[in-house]
Amino acid sequence: MNHTIQSPEPCAAPALFERVRQAPLTRREQIVADLAELQRQAGLGWALRALFRQQVACGYVLFDPADPAMLAEKRFVVPGDTAIALRLQWNPQRELRLDHALLIERGVFAKVAPERLVNRTDTGGCYLCPRNIALQSPAEILLPLTLNDEPYLLGANFAPITDNHFTVIPSAHRPQRYRRELLRAGFELAEASGGTFRVLFNGRAGASILAHAHLHATDARLPVEDLTAAPLLFRQGDDLRVSRPDYPLPLWLVEGRDADAVIRAGDRLIRAWRRRDPARHSENLLMSVDAGRYRLFIVPRDRERLTAPERTAAMASFETAGLIVLSHPSERRLFETADAALVRQLLTALTPACPPEAVLGPAMLGF
Ligand SMILES: [Zn+2]
Repeated sequence: MNHTIQSPEPCAAPALFERVRQAPLTRREQIVADLAELQRQAGLGWALRALFRQQVACGYVLFDPADPAMLAEKRFVVPGDTAIALRLQWNPQRELRLDHALLIERGVFAKVAPERLVNRTDTGGCYLCPRNIALQSPAEILLPLTLNDEPYLLGANFAPITDNHFTVIPSAHRPQRYRRELLRAGFELAEASGGTFRVLFNGRAGASILAHAHLHATDARLPVEDLTAAPLLFRQGDDLRVSRPDYPLPLWLVEGRDADAVIRAGDRLIRAWRRRDPARHSENLLMSVDAGRYRLFIVPRDRERLTAPERTAAMASFETAGLIVLSHPSERRLFETADAALVRQLLTALTPACPPEAVLGPAMLGF
């Protein structure tokens, strides 16, 4: 079984795809118009792939994640009810995001007079406010999309973890915090891509920008999505299921064909977890649509257990979904020497101090 390579239907509008891919930044307005048309003719997934290729070609994306020389990966099969392969990624190019001179050269960041920016910080203006992006990120092109009746913008991640890795940004400036509406926005995006993209959310456990809400989207299938059989916790009718898959980290999977029912049940679980200890409890989420089923993966997180002893940066939703990214030079040895037991430990180290089962009883009352 191949866990990573998506094989969507061929693009229904290949000439338009090529036109976007090859377009220079000077044709920005034409690119945005072509993306809207490509989305109409071939679907959101293809519009996003074309935009990502354009942003790689023009240098905004700092390296090409589709180039096998850029990323190294090891896989470790974890036995369980469903044997899944956890993935350990060596992505040293991701450190380029800290190279200020390179960011300026590639048009990822530009110095702008502070009075022109909104929601100012010590280093400029909020990086995710659309008005600031237009000034501060001259090479970035955003794809507009309405999700949950709200305007959003999708931009290629300039230091990606996977090919076609996007940041999904509500136009409104509001802090990174879980809200039920995010679940609907995530499912709508996954659905608009024909299920080829999944959407991830980091609460205050791994998110690097906290001032402006955002999600991630990628068309790379992640290991956790291969979990199928799972001990059932709750079932409603013959459709909605809440289960606890056998995984190195506590995890809840809510799935069914009715998006409203999945969102309602998922929101209940997430809120119960947060209520139990508002200062410490957070979450990583993954939303996908697979063969007409809405799947919500909830990883309850503890803000005092953000990473494993061997790792530098906090672990976020890609890591908890089974793709563990190492990029810092000090982590190279870990990548080279890791075995299945160690990779498993990297995840189990994130297990919250408070057992997530403790909130299940009250949360499931009245589903
Ligand atoms: Zn903002």
